[in-house]
Amino acid sequence: MTFNFQSFNNLDEVVAHFNSEKICKDYLEQIRWAEEIKCVYQGCGHDKVYRYDNERTFKCSGCNRQFNVRTGTIFHKSKIPLTTWFAAMYLISLQQKSTSITKLSEDIGVSMKTAYAMNRAIRIQFGMYVRKKIPGRKRTIRKI
Ligand SMILES: [Zn+2]
Repeated sequence: MTFNFQSFNNLDEVVAHFNSEKICKDYLEQIRWAEEIKCVYQGCGHDKVYRYDNERTFKCSGCNRQFNVRTGTIFHKSKIPLTTWFAAMYLISLQQKSTSITKLSEDIGVSMKTAYAMNRAIRIQFGMYVRKKIPGRKRTIRKI
């Protein structure tokens, strides 16, 4: 999945654009399954997938399991609204090397603990962490 925030100039524009769960889900479906919808479960990947009438749930005809656009992503089982996730992704995308957790928590209106967890999940999902060498130590630690 690749998010493209390049057309936005600031957080207000991102928040104004991705202003409902529906719009966020539409966008996620678009970038996740731009060409065709495939089963999201590991080891399956079947391409015969049916969309339920409620439009957001899919069923794989290969393994008979159901899924939606959040399944198998960092948004799965999260109680945080997608609108908040999108705001966080935009802000983190501006800070390539590291994130100020205090500022992130203030900007998106979540606790420090939640901001830390979201930052970690986003950086891992999008490969945005950097390995940093600490002077005097042999091991490199992963700074997220
Ligand atoms: Zn399947």
